[in-house]
Amino acid sequence: MVIVRDIELYSLCEHHLLPFIGKAHVAYMPTGKVLGLSKVARIVDLFARRLQIQEDLTKQIANAIQSVTQAAGVAVVIEAKHMCMMMRGVEKQNSVMTTSVMLGAFRESSNSRQEFLQLIRSK
Ligand SMILES: [Zn+2]
Repeated sequence: MVIVRDIELYSLCEHHLLPFIGKAHVAYMPTGKVLGLSKVARIVDLFARRLQIQEDLTKQIANAIQSVTQAAGVAVVIEAKHMCMMMRGVEKQNSVMTTSVMLGAFRESSNSRQEFLQLIRSK
C-alpha cells in the first residue's frame, strides 16, 4: 500500500463561492505503476482548482488515481474546513467535513481499509 497523507488542499465551494481548505490523504495498491509524490499532489491540485463540492472532489481524485495507476484499490479521504460554514454561525468555527471514497481492494477488504485509516490517523 502506498499512502500520501496530509496533502494541502485549497478549493472553492461551488455553492457559495467561498474557499474550503484542508488535507487530502491518498492511498493505492500498486499493480506495477507507482506515482511520484508530486504527481499525486498535482492530481489533487488539478481537481481542487475547479469550483467544487467536497464529495465530488473526493470521487474525482480517486477515479483519476485509479485510471493513472490501474491500482488494485484506491482510497481518498479529505478533511476540510469550509468558509461558508465558518462565516454563517459562531458554533461552526471548528467543524471539519470529512469525505471518503474507497475503490477496489479498499472497498472489498475491511483490513486494508482499517490499515489505511490507522495510518492517516497516526502522528
Ligand atoms: Zn459552501
